[in-house]
Amino acid sequence: MTDIPMVDLFVIGGGINGAGIARDAAGRGLKVILCEKDDLAQGTSSRSGKLVHGGLRYLEYYEFRLVREALIEREVLLNSASHIIWPMRFVLPHSPDDRPAWLVRLGLFLYDHLGGRKKLPGTRSLDLRRDPEGAPILDQYTKGFEYSDCWVDDARLVVLNAVGAAEKGAEILTRTACTSARRENGHWRVEMRDERTGAVRTVLARCLINAGGPWVNDIVGRVAGSNSRRNVRLVKGSHIIVPKFWDGDHAYLVQNHDKRVIFINPYEGDKALIGTTDIPYEGRPEEVKADESEVEYLLAAVNRYFKEKLRRSDVIETFSGVRPLFDDGQGNPSAVTRDYTFDLDETSGAPLLNIFGGKITTFRKLAEHAVQKVGKFFPEMGPDWTAESKLPGGEIENADFVGFTERMREAYPWLPRGLLHHYGHLYGARMTKLLAGATSMAGLGRHFGAKLYEAEVRHVVNNEWALSAEDVLFRRTKQGLHMSPAEREAFAQWFDGELLRAA
Ligand SMILES: Cc1cc2nc3c(=O)[nH]c(=O)nc-3n(C[C@H](O)[C@H](O)[C@H](O)COP(=O)(O)OP(=O)(O)OC[C@H]3O[C@@H](n4cnc5c(N)ncnc54)[C@H](O)[C@@H]3O)c2cc1C
Repeated sequence: MTDIPMVDLFVIGGGINGAGIARDAAGRGLKVILCEKDDLAQGTSSRSGKLVHGGLRYLEYYEFRLVREALIEREVLLNSASHIIWPMRFVLPHSPDDRPAWLVRLGLFLYDHLGGRKKLPGTRSLDLRRDPEGAPILDQYTKGFEYSDCWVDDARLVVLNAVGAAEKGAEILTRTACTSARRENGHWRVEMRDERTGAVRTVLARCLINAGGPWVNDIVGRVAGSNSRRNVRLVKGSHIIVPKFWDGDHAYLVQNHDKRVIFINPYEGDKALIGTTDIPYEGRPEEVKADESEVEYLLAAVNRYFKEKLRRSDVIETFSGVRPLFDDGQGNPSAVTRDYTFDLDETSGAPLLNIFGGKITTFRKLAEHAVQKVGKFFPEMGPDWTAESKLPGGEIENADFVGFTERMREAYPWLPRGLLHHYGHLYGARMTKLLAGATSMAGLGRHFGAKLYEAEVRHVVNNEWALSAEDVLFRRTKQGLHMSPAEREAFAQWFDGELLRAA
């Protein structure tokens, strides 16, 4: 028994919450293991709307605590990772049929003032007949508003937290499922299985954290053989990707007749990301996908406002995710709280912390609260530290991304501007590590299509747990969206053959 290794925290789930908790705890000096059954962020955390936002519409549900915390977090996160998180302006054409203008104005006033906004510009009113933001909007909409929120590369946010955790000493295990956890002599005996080799490993842990997102109840019952007073409510949300159809970097936000709001965001340069839906879900989270009715719903909501009409054939891609919401008993899926809650089970001195709900936006605060919650079991652990810290790659002076790219342009004059921006946005200050040794384009190795070169692939394989072609094409980068099916296929063959064989 004594030769089984013992850790302080065992975290189940490599989504944003598990990765955030692992980093926070490891930075306080705790010995941490995180296990993820698939790839990092393969669950909900790569399928979000990719906004770091207060959530304007949550004000209608009186979620003031959540909105305030999220608004404060926007600027904290912006400072910590200005390469993957950036400000975005949102244009809201006013539709008198849906909400009165005074209500929208009041909501935006609160939104501007609830969260100690410092960097982001405030709200302004728009005359859609005159202001350029109104150009693509139908003439019947004359008034509008514009306000600030932030954009985030959600999958990379998870990876950066995992990298940060590993740099503080955490062990990150992907493609590793936690199959069983049992209390034994005041601690947890945890078993996990390597999903690629089938190898089983056992560790002891002083505390177990269940950050399973949509799988939280499965982990409580099947894996940990426990019970929880709380329940998760699964709500599906889908997005469509179409070619971008307006000029400018701003996003749009339109109100629908069912009181829902639909975001129309610039995505990956020449594309637009449109979402989302809110549909109760009872299937397996692994199998979630967008239904044709959701695609039609999103197209109709957009076509109500824009001169250019989107057709089904414009849809390049769809994706869907399952929100793991805390079940607060609300009937309407849009009204279920987006706030998070914990359930701490301290039976026989071996704590189990189950996490319900949460947003990408509030992950850092959630992680801090979660580690504080189990802090009494670790009197030796360090204080809160993440608010002032930089995520890996975010070590950019004054969080000034524009100044940073200018310095990189001087350092790498041979790198085409588009590729420099691509590396800058994905890897921030760590792009120098990816480019180490290269002095010309030839130094980047094979080109697979779009902006994907061998040097980047090797970087994410060696530093970011990328283990399959899909990890590289759709989570570490989004280059899969820009490559042809033949290019993706050729890349997958190279990855599975030449690269993995050599590894
Ligand atoms: C459509 C949609 C839009 C959204 N938009 C936004 C937005 O714009 N902004 C925002 O802030 N939030 C948004 N959210 C919410 C946000 O995405 C989620 O709250 C967040 O990603 C949940 O993260 P998580 O870590 O709890 O879950 P997940 O990311 O699902 O992570 C849980 C992980 O646990 C792993 N796991 C499960 N069982 C086991 C096991 N036995 N062993 C090992 N690993 C296991 C899973 O594989 C999974 O990777 C959106 C959500 C959806 C669905």
